[in-house]
Amino acid sequence: QEADEGSPVSRALEGIREEVAALSDGRVADYIPELAHADPDTFGIAAVSAHGRSYCVGDAEHAFTLQSISKPFVYAVAVEELGLDAVHGHVGAEPSGEPFNAISLDERGRPENPMINAGAIVTTSLVRGTEGRFEHIRSVLSDFAGRRLSVDEDVYRSEAETGHRNRALGYLSLAGGVLVGPVEEAVQDYFRQCALSVTVRDLAVMAATLSVGGVNPVTGRRVVSQRTARHALSVMASCGMYDRAGEWGLRVGIPAKSGVSGGILAAAPGAFGLGVFSPPLDEAGNSVRGVAALERLSDDYDLHMLRTP
Ligand code: GLN
Repeated sequence: QEADEGSPVSRALEGIREEVAALSDGRVADYIPELAHADPDTFGIAAVSAHGRSYCVGDAEHAFTLQSISKPFVYAVAVEELGLDAVHGHVGAEPSGEPFNAISLDERGRPENPMINAGAIVTTSLVRGTEGRFEHIRSVLSDFAGRRLSVDEDVYRSEAETGHRNRALGYLSLAGGVLVGPVEEAVQDYFRQCALSVTVRDLAVMAATLSVGGVNPVTGRRVVSQRTARHALSVMASCGMYDRAGEWGLRVGIPAKSGVSGGILAAAPGAFGLGVFSPPLDEAGNSVRGVAALERLSDDYDLHMLRTP
């Protein structure tokens, strides 16, 4: 249910939004041509409590594409289907300290982790699903969001036409013996999962589902096991913010995942699911206002996962 706008949580979110909106640095991503059309001033924040109450401020109804925020959820799909050890026979679990599109292979031929592109493409390649791979991915991610998600075809096409570096990462992983081929099919499904269209409220519901251990607190439906939810939170905590993972752990300390369209999803275990959207990015590819807003939220509500009593 939607909480009323005058609630203390909504007022607090609005205060943070107004303050952070003044930040004007960062650049909208344009290497996927379709993303360059984003309005840099769009800015929304949403929070969903462990009980499923939602609080939204700013441009909460604006739709954008998931991009890398799809990665922890597809990782969860793969872990549910294959088990943790089988998945990690193909992809590592170490923070890479490198950008999201890095050429990354560890000493066993695996991409360093499932949150960078190389590891995410391998993870997607592992999923089978009875109704076909992408339909399975879409249906589980929709259960996380509590509504049926659809693909933004323009963004999908734009990336499919230009995403040759991701194809190269796929072929490298095939050569390393860790991607389950054919590469082009895995890469296409990866582009589709990245092009799923969401709002900040969807992000907050998806995050809240992880925060409470795999049951969507709005629909009441179990999406993944408690253990799988914890695994997804773990890789988000160590690898979710690319080469800013350490800094993020220090200043925010909430398992999170960012995407190049400008979204950040953060899941405070047992407390809140959070979603922020603002397109201008810092050099690491993380939303400038999103990072600032989550820093404030973590501070104001004492959401750091290593807080002491
Ligand atoms: N689809 C994007 C890509 O593969 C996702 C990257 C991101 O959001 N950081 O380049």
